[in-house]
Amino acid sequence: MAQQEDVFKKIVSHCKEYGFVFPSSDIYDGLGAVYDYGQNGVELKNNIKQYWWQSMVLLHENIVGIDAAIFMHPTTWKASGHVDAFNDPLIDNRDSKKRYRADVLIEEQLAKYEDKIQKEIEKAQKRFGDAFDEAQFRATNQRVLENQEKYDALHKRYQEVMNAEGGIDLEGMKQIILDEGIVCPISGTRNWTDVRQFNLMFKTEMGSTADGASTIYLRPETAQGIFVNYLNVQKTGRMKLPFGIAQIGKAFRNEIVARQFIFRMREFEQMEMQFFIQPGTELDWFAKWKETRMKWHQNLGFGAENYRFHDHDKLAHYANAATDIEFRMPFGFKEVEGIHSRTNFDLSQHAKYSGKKIEYFDPDRNESYTPYVIETSIGVDRMFLSIMCHSFEEQQLPDGQTRTVLHLPAALAPVKLAVFPLTKKDGMPEKAQEIINELRFHFNCKYEEKDQIGKRYRRMDAIGCPYCVTVDQQTLEDNTVTLRDRDTMEQKRVLISELRSIIEDKVSITSLLKKLL
Ligand code: ATP
Repeated sequence: MAQQEDVFKKIVSHCKEYGFVFPSSDIYDGLGAVYDYGQNGVELKNNIKQYWWQSMVLLHENIVGIDAAIFMHPTTWKASGHVDAFNDPLIDNRDSKKRYRADVLIEEQLAKYEDKIQKEIEKAQKRFGDAFDEAQFRATNQRVLENQEKYDALHKRYQEVMNAEGGIDLEGMKQIILDEGIVCPISGTRNWTDVRQFNLMFKTEMGSTADGASTIYLRPETAQGIFVNYLNVQKTGRMKLPFGIAQIGKAFRNEIVARQFIFRMREFEQMEMQFFIQPGTELDWFAKWKETRMKWHQNLGFGAENYRFHDHDKLAHYANAATDIEFRMPFGFKEVEGIHSRTNFDLSQHAKYSGKKIEYFDPDRNESYTPYVIETSIGVDRMFLSIMCHSFEEQQLPDGQTRTVLHLPAALAPVKLAVFPLTKKDGMPEKAQEIINELRFHFNCKYEEKDQIGKRYRRMDAIGCPYCVTVDQQTLEDNTVTLRDRDTMEQKRVLISELRSIIEDKVSITSLLKKLL
């Protein structure tokens, strides 16, 4: 674990050193859980967004996009339930003065029991080899059984307090923390305050106070911008059920515990798609979208073993089924995307609060009804972090040196091709520029002439550039260059005229999209 934490620290500093992510207002020592994307970060982020947007809007005839404003009418958040119920249960440790989310403390305790079981299984697997029967081992091993029992008991209690009548049972939560002997990781003590609710929405004012300013909120999710536009899009787009509306945009949450770099931010970006369907078909569509979204993730080639579904114990006030897609980060499996069956809750609430009829006339059934909704909601920044974590490697080379390389999927890499003149003379820089001038219209290219070639390769490895081309003496004679592959470090001589066809397909988002069909 300590080793994994070390790796994570390295990734964070790599992000800063190579222009991916900076703390916000860095010269003023940063702002808690707010980050800026640098020259390479913004390219990677844009590519992630394109991959998502195109997979939704280009590959589905019945999905269209919108771009709603961040500010919304304040009644939106009354109707959605966020004013009354968008709370996190928080608890303070009196000795360290640190604040935690009580639900997260309990979930971490559950994960500890799971970890213990997993370790026993891994140990036994090594010992018994091919003859190992996991089901039998789980059913008979004393230590596994003890931990499973503790897990089940805690899980049951946790579900009870989270789903208590009238909202979360805050006293019950504190009692669990005390009974489980959960200590503050900083002070190591159990000196906890009571659990309190904390609303996560940021407030601001619109209009000057003199003419009666009204309180408005920075949206805590992009979804509501879609719901309030359901009628507009359905009518003007003449959309027939089932259909979806996709949106990418900023969301804001005043997170109590903002840790782990861009995993939990106060200002972040979401990519959400609300899919409107006939009531009664929601569980089929829920299963379908689970599969579609998992395929989208696994299509990046990071290995199926690094993903899992995690079904929710506590359903949000609007949902009748919910799951997370989790990715193996250096600090464990963590949620990257949520898939929720939101029933007709949001549209009905907006109909009630606005007094408008928000329904769909179904020509096949000759009746009107409020559509049900399946939502897929993914954080751009968490996706960015998972890609960084998986791609980062400090690689031991055969000659004893190490190189830091980002094995980014080529289609997401900020720079696709770097072009180097071997030296700064004999017309090599001009030739290199000529190549860039030709290819820059097709993908992102970068020119570099400073330092030795070896150093230039390393710099490109560190930003995940999949291809480097070197212009040398021979180029001037026969128009060939060396083309170096980032991952294998192999070099081959190719004609300049072939470069585009070799590279373009591999680095385009289209290449990823084609694999989805
Ligand atoms: P968590 O339980 O981690 O707080 P959540 O279940 O509240 O997340 P959702 O409301 O389902 O998250 O939001 C959908 C997605 O938005 C998440 O899967 C995540 O990728 C992203 N997201 C949510 N909160 C944050 C945040 N504070 N910083 C970055 N991304 C976030």
